[in-house]
Amino acid sequence: MGCDFVELAVSGVRSLSPYLPGKPIEELAREQGLDEADIVKLASNENPLGPAPSSLASIKRQLSDIARYPDGNLFNLRQALSQKLQVLPEQITFGNGSNDVLVLLAQSWLKPGVSAVFSEYAFVVYPIAVKAAGAESIVVPARNWGHDLEAMADAVREDTRMIFLANPNNPTGTAFSRDELVCFLDKVRNDIIVVLDEAYFEYVQDEKHPDGIALLNQYPNLVVTRTFSKAYGLAGSRVGYSVSSKNIASVLNKLRQPFNVNNLGEAAAVAVLEDEDYLARSRSLNSEGLEKVATGLQDQGFAYIPSKGNFITFDTGGDAMVVYQKLLEKGVIVRPVANYGMLRHLRVSIGLPEENDRFLQALAEVKEAVI
Ligand SMILES: *Cc1c(COP(=O)(O)O)cnc(C)c1O
Repeated sequence: MGCDFVELAVSGVRSLSPYLPGKPIEELAREQGLDEADIVKLASNENPLGPAPSSLASIKRQLSDIARYPDGNLFNLRQALSQKLQVLPEQITFGNGSNDVLVLLAQSWLKPGVSAVFSEYAFVVYPIAVKAAGAESIVVPARNWGHDLEAMADAVREDTRMIFLANPNNPTGTAFSRDELVCFLDKVRNDIIVVLDEAYFEYVQDEKHPDGIALLNQYPNLVVTRTFSKAYGLAGSRVGYSVSSKNIASVLNKLRQPFNVNNLGEAAAVAVLEDEDYLARSRSLNSEGLEKVATGLQDQGFAYIPSKGNFITFDTGGDAMVVYQKLLEKGVIVRPVANYGMLRHLRVSIGLPEENDRFLQALAEVKEAVI
């Protein structure tokens, strides 16, 4: 008889619940017998504009190089980012998406016997990374669906080594101000690493919203993570990074796989980083779409959580899975958030104007039928 390798897996890994991605378009087409072109996917906070033409052109120029290993040091992207963000090249750590960097952080400083703090409804990768490292999670109840920073500072224990903050948070879209963040950082012990996840930073248009990178000099225990997956339109290319003290980056770079970002991803990221026009279009499309979808939800009588990201999470008023299924039948893919303990809510990403309309129309029809 074979050995039970599930039992033999290290306990941190054995206890994981795997990440549940949004349903791919091809899968729904197969399941429902729908035409792929008729399906609208608003489930993974992807950029509805598609990739920047500048990224595509850069990838095409790079294509003939894929037989070679990428530049493990990512010289071109490192230089471009260091200039853009006004940080030293040595402060940056690259990841296969920022998800990769979040896992590197947990693996570098967490272990059995220590704890990490994060909020209820915070991004699901934090509990996965903490558990996989064998550490204990301290989950702090949310306030108005957002991070309760005061309660999070109070929840810190002697054995706490890391705190995860998402600003804005996914799946709730909530955000905290610079003043609130500074007040929090002043309270936290300086031997605790504060990971500030700014995956949606480029979308936020609010003077009071903090730029974590501007706070790094003042708080050497702060690590800011960002990504090319959202406003920069490269979710499939998997390029993310953190900015931190050189000290922290040097540890992350020991563990980082030397080729965790591939040469096509790097080329695409370098190009779009300079593409002010693409970023401006992403932002304005999103802010208009957010307003449109929020108004539409309100008109249909659905309560929603005001969002600073490229998505809105709303209360279906009943069993969210029923509404989710009915929307699928109409070719509209949104995202259930039951894995966050939000059984009545669904998250919808902001799409192109016609995609937002398709969603609102489908939702209105579903509401007629089931609610
Ligand atoms: C999407 C997202 C990320 C990053 O995803 P990558 O594609 O791995 O860069 C990180 N944090 C939050 C909160 C997100 O929503």
